[in-house]
Parts: sequence; C-alpha cells; structure tokens
Amino acid sequence: MRVNAYAALGPAQAVVPWSYEINDVQPHEVLVRVLACGICHSDVHMIDNDWGFSRYPLVPGHEIVGVVESVGAHVQTLQTGQRVGIGWQRSACGHCEDCLRGQDHLCDESTGVITHGYGGFASHVAVDARYCFPLPESLPTESAGPLLCGGITVYSALRAAGMGSGLRIGVVGLGGLGHLAIQFASRMGNHVTAFTTTEAKAYEASKLGAHDAILIRDGRPVRRPPRPLHIVLNTVPAPTPTDVYLDLLGSDGVLCYVGAPTTPLSVPLWPLLVKRRRIMGSPIGSRATIIEMLENAAAFGVRPMVETYPLARVNDALERVRRNVVRYRAVLLA
Ligand SMILES: [Zn+2]
Ligand SMILES: [Zn+2]
Repeated sequence: MRVNAYAALGPAQAVVPWSYEINDVQPHEVLVRVLACGICHSDVHMIDNDWGFSRYPLVPGHEIVGVVESVGAHVQTLQTGQRVGIGWQRSACGHCEDCLRGQDHLCDESTGVITHGYGGFASHVAVDARYCFPLPESLPTESAGPLLCGGITVYSALRAAGMGSGLRIGVVGLGGLGHLAIQFASRMGNHVTAFTTTEAKAYEASKLGAHDAILIRDGRPVRRPPRPLHIVLNTVPAPTPTDVYLDLLGSDGVLCYVGAPTTPLSVPLWPLLVKRRRIMGSPIGSRATIIEMLENAAAFGVRPMVETYPLARVNDALERVRRNVVRYRAVLLA
C-alpha cells in the first residue's frame, strides 16, 4: 500500500508531501492508521540533523495515536481496530542485560521510530507490535500522543529518581515536558514546586497542580522553597546553573535532567558530598513503564494541553514549535 506522508528531504528544510510503499506487514509488526501525532522538539532536531545521524527523506513524528489496521502473522497481543499509541522507540534486541531486566529503552541496539524508519507525519506507520501500546479509553485521541514521548520521559525520570507520593518535588521549566511533570507529580500525591520565568507561567503552573511557583530571574530562583526538596526535575533544554538546584535538595536528594543542553555541566562536588545528593539523567522509558504511565495518566486525569493542526498545516505547527510558543504541545490531526 501507498503511505502518504510529509518528509524533510534535507537538513532544516520544510516538510513536503512525500509517499512510500509498504509491501508487506512483517510477521512481528502492526500497520497503524494515524489519527493524531504530536510534535516533539526531537522531531525538529532530527529534521535539522542536529545530532548528525538523520537520514533523508525523513518522516518525523513519534507521538502517534492511531488504529491498528492489520497485524503481522506472529502478533498475538493486538487486534485490528484497537486504538494504540506509539512513541520514540521502534525496537530493542530483547536479549541484552538491559532488555532482560526490563529496561529495554536503555538497550544499546534499540532503534527509533523516526531514526530507523518513517514516522507519524503520515497516513500510516508500520512498527514492531511490542512498541505499540493499547490506550486506556479515557485518554482523548487528540491529546494522548504527547504522553508517548514527552509524558513517558518525565514519568520515567521521576520514577527512576524515586517518585512515589508524599515527596517534595521541584520541576524546572514549564514547556511540553514540564507541564506534564507537574501534573504527574502533583496528581500522584506529591508537593510540587514549579520554577519558571514569567508570572503568567507561574499562574499556569498552579492551574496544572503546582502547590508553589518560584520565578527564575537571571537564571536563578528568586527565593528558596520553605523546605528542602527530595527531587528536582530539570526539563530546560538550555544550560542552567547546577549549584543552585543542588542547593535546594535535602539529603539524598536527586537532581534529574531530561532536557539536554549541548554544553557540559559544571558540577561543584561539595554539595554532593555533604548531603549525599545525586545527579542523574534519564531518557524515555521502558515498555513496562509506558504501560504504567498510561494507566496512571488515565487514573489521575493527567492530560497534555495541546494545540491541534490539520496534517496539511504541519509546517505552520513546526514553525511554532521552533519559535517555542506552543502551549504546550502541537498535535497534527489526520
Ligand atoms: Zn520526543
Ligand atoms: Zn537489548
């Protein structure tokens, strides 16, 4: 069958209508008709070849909601007509230490939906059935997509940093990632402090569930939270001062990065030593964590806030993502 897509034909170019053929759905794959697809900053990085491994034509899109249209001969877990979500990961080896301990997103052989194939800015996408997740009914098609990359990125990071409930959690930055982190952390029973740059965003943070919001001026919070934090999740993709946020953590506190500035961190060791604090980074999440995240998003009412665009207006949407003015995620609708 012919798949109608939008593809970048070279680095930093606008995407243009482009099509490709899917001849057979492989035995372990499913063919999904795309209903909605979020736009993540990684799509823009891939279009621009910022990481040096983009291959063109490049069909972006890895926050996909769709309907299973056909299943490969060996697929037993999904059925035609089922509504599913697909995120960043396309496959993993299945037998390395990481895969065997259920941390398949850390697998050295893992592949990505848009790095090793064609993504969701398209009528259809074919993927490994293991990386295709049935969506809880209460999650709306229009807004569920961003959970599959943005949502799992913050959820998995918070879990790996120790999030349960009853903790004091700081979230730095209120964008596509931050607005989901605030919702997950607060709705699952934690006290959340948002760190953001404008009064308007501080107000937005409180509406999303933050209990406190602290403004950042000249890169630094204008005041300290009344009590030390257990976890600070930094979602800002630009350099931020490490010492400032380490200093807000209590003993055994964790400073966790999900935004990826290109410059190395400058880390003073004394604040780590004296309070046994840790710094960590975290990418996406395992299959098990994605399923847990989707269940908790449904159970606790976590909803990405989205701007929707018809697929034909994809370049307008990409332009707004590039200018960083989307509140908080752009979603393309079929
Ligand atoms: Zn992404
Ligand atoms: Zn593996």
